[in-house]
Amino acid sequence: MSGRERQHWASATDIGRVRSHNEDAILVSPPLFVVADGLGGHEAGEVASKIAVETLRDNAPRRADANALGRAVRAANREVIRAAREGIGRKGMGTTITAAIVDGLDVVIAQVGDSRAYRLHDGTLDRVTQDHSMVADLVRSGQISEAESRVHPHRSIITRALGTDPNMYADTFEVDVEQGDRLLLCSDGLTAMLTDERIAELLATSRDPGTTARALVDAANELGGQDNISVVVIDIEGGSVSTGTRASERRIRGWIAIVGWLLAAALIIGGAAWGAYTYARNRAFVRADSPTTVSLYRGVPGDVAGISLMWRQRSVRMNVPALSPGIQLELREGKVFDGLGSAGAYLSGLEASSSQLPGSGEPTSSPTPAP
Ligand code: MN
Repeated sequence: MSGRERQHWASATDIGRVRSHNEDAILVSPPLFVVADGLGGHEAGEVASKIAVETLRDNAPRRADANALGRAVRAANREVIRAAREGIGRKGMGTTITAAIVDGLDVVIAQVGDSRAYRLHDGTLDRVTQDHSMVADLVRSGQISEAESRVHPHRSIITRALGTDPNMYADTFEVDVEQGDRLLLCSDGLTAMLTDERIAELLATSRDPGTTARALVDAANELGGQDNISVVVIDIEGGSVSTGTRASERRIRGWIAIVGWLLAAALIIGGAAWGAYTYARNRAFVRADSPTTVSLYRGVPGDVAGISLMWRQRSVRMNVPALSPGIQLELREGKVFDGLGSAGAYLSGLEASSSQLPGSGEPTSSPTPAP
């Protein structure tokens, strides 16, 4: 965490006022945030929720990929089932999961059970998740009210959890968010005690997510704290990721990408240059440098990407306008050969057949420039 940047998230978990254990587990590992509410009693719930968040931590994507997050939840499910089979925890232990990946304005959620995700936008609270519980089914079918569901004797019966069904799947979805929105993940120890209206008020009381998280837990405890209470509060920061650490990581990744591209470009250009150089070293040409000078070069006429790839070997004085028009044309452009040998033979042939100029045949040479 960078000290100068405000921390954009906070979490709190509390045993409550009644229970002897805290079977909830929370994980804050931006961009991943998780609340898990363990089930099974006799400490087994603690084991299940802990295994679930740890498996999720190891398997969750680092980007807001809902399908990948759903797969990570299924992996967590298999781990809880496997642990129970191997005698870790207890048979029948299970856990809820509400997991979010918050990457800037890209947010995805995966959820199983009755731990919830809420979004506060412009003072309006929306429940993002649907509980997998008996009372939620009863509310949806109109048989009981929302208020009744919070005190219903079967309110703790959940219809989907990690730890029992190997084919279990998570509800996964993307969440529309804007800068300034606030997300809340919480276990039912909060929502059984507080109405959505009260949660909305408490979420809006402080700009500081830590103060807000503590206020939520305190309020649930003041009303009885009948269950473990866990909350994760995440402020949505547009354009940047959820923490300063992540922002700097992203900057570093940006630089690594730029350096990578530069290296790749250098390799391509370097490779091309090396290829051109090797090609040129194996070529030769004969060219009229002036009406009285014809030279033998190693390399190719002209230049490649602004680099001259020719090295003069020797020059011969010659009356170029006296040569046939076809040969003159070739010599103006440079007549190219596969190697120095054939080019040299061609120049010698020209020399022998052409009308000699005074001083002709005197070889000159220039040093081969370093590549
Ligand atoms: Mn609970």
